[in-house]
Amino acid sequence: MLVRREPPATAARPGPRVLQVAAEIFPLVKTGGLADVVGALPPALAAEGLDVRVVLPGYAAIADSVLHQRRVAELGPMFGAARVTLRLGRLPYSRLPVYLVDAPLLFRREGGPYQAADGHEWPDNLQRFALLGWVAAHLATGELDPGWAPDLLHAHDWHAAMSHAYLAAHAAPVPSVFTVHNLAYQGLFPAGDFALLGLSARFMAAHGLEYHGQVSFMKAGLKFASRITTVSPTYAREIATHEFGAGLDGVICGRRDDVSGILNGVDRAVWNPETDTALASRYSAAQPEGKMRCKAALQQQLGLEAAEDRPLFGVVSRLSAQKGLDLLLAALPRLLAEGGQLAVLGSGDAALERAFRDAAAAQPGRVAAITGYDESLAHRIIAGVDAVVVPSRFEPCGLTQLYGLRYGSLPVVRRVGGLADTVVGATPETMSDGTATGFSFDAATPAALEGALGLAVSTYREPARWRRLMAQAMAQDFSWAVAAREYRALFEILLRPRAGRSAGTPLRGGAGGVA
Ligand code: ADP
Repeated sequence: MLVRREPPATAARPGPRVLQVAAEIFPLVKTGGLADVVGALPPALAAEGLDVRVVLPGYAAIADSVLHQRRVAELGPMFGAARVTLRLGRLPYSRLPVYLVDAPLLFRREGGPYQAADGHEWPDNLQRFALLGWVAAHLATGELDPGWAPDLLHAHDWHAAMSHAYLAAHAAPVPSVFTVHNLAYQGLFPAGDFALLGLSARFMAAHGLEYHGQVSFMKAGLKFASRITTVSPTYAREIATHEFGAGLDGVICGRRDDVSGILNGVDRAVWNPETDTALASRYSAAQPEGKMRCKAALQQQLGLEAAEDRPLFGVVSRLSAQKGLDLLLAALPRLLAEGGQLAVLGSGDAALERAFRDAAAAQPGRVAAITGYDESLAHRIIAGVDAVVVPSRFEPCGLTQLYGLRYGSLPVVRRVGGLADTVVGATPETMSDGTATGFSFDAATPAALEGALGLAVSTYREPARWRRLMAQAMAQDFSWAVAAREYRALFEILLRPRAGRSAGTPLRGGAGGVA
């Protein structure tokens, strides 16, 4: 399933030094698409000629996997940790250099990266991710590693966003990019905990981290980064609106000229039906026969009726309100009446988990629901289904529809965010001009989803049309090389003398000390 990546052999033009900052990375720690991006983007940037390093929290799953570790700096007690050590090693698989924030008290514990096993947020998340940001910022200023300092810092989502505030507090002339992978998760903490951040009180203001009386880590990125990117152009526009801005649309509007969207890609070392070892059979656009074997194997594994002619729909998703899967539950009776089958792999919201399990119990052989997280089953579902359903209420980019395209499993998507940017819904026009790659709908209603599912079922009954759509879907090229070139172009704008450097709120002179 995971192919070891060769280190980038040829660097094009030598590019800038870039420090990536994030809280998860595939395949070591993953809760969603963020990990896939952080696993794939740095190697793609390196292949573009950039000198890339990544800084990550020293969770056991990461710290115990990173190769050739050596100590770079001893930071002593900070942010509630008895001691913090900065280590440098190399990532398995990509061999990229990675800094580990080794703070056993904060990061080495049973449970998830953000939550305990019981689903509650870790009570010290403010200190944990402030520390990540602090270390990243001080690496960026060149204070922590005498052997390397980046030209630019690039942080991902709220967990890494404090790096921008600490850079601002330092008045460091290091340009920075903040990428929003999901504006709905903001890293909000009680105002009383602001003192733990070691920042000047001026940062706890509307033009800083303050958000309705709370501390917002997301705002640290939105206010202080030189540039803001999101993971699709449509989501970049949407987050400036009340409907999609998650309460931060005003802040986004204030940075309108600094916000842009760069689409995520598909990591071909991981998601490729020609090489995917999780599958019952491998296949390609030129030789698609193996896909039927994947479908048969999946039906058998999940206890679904072994029927080649039934269109099999699939979902691999967090189960949260965002993903619109309540719409799918409402549309399910009609889908089944039309002859469809459904396979769902997901975890999250307990009521949704229960509802899908109940649907499977009520419709044995027609609906299968697996609650939990299973990377290998995710591959088998994406390959074995005929269509991947992504009816999201909002979707910054979305990866499973991209995997669906790659695996010839036609996406059925709501036309929103990155789904709108990556799937061309079948219409008489897009069918005749050869651009259709899936099925799409607009309103977040069961009826609208039923319409798209109904069109998928009727198209499935016309094998020649379905095969044409599959070929068009599989011909799409959402590669990380394209995304990496766009990020490089953005970085180079920021690194031009006197260009693009002044963006971000000019709030300087924080205490810089650490509680
Ligand atoms: P998000 O980041 O909002 O969760 P994305 O579509 O961007 O959504 O990325 C989701 C990633 O997580 C994909 O790689 C998908 O395959 C994976 N995933 C989601 N749920 C599961 C699950 N239950 N088991 C395995 N992989 C999952």
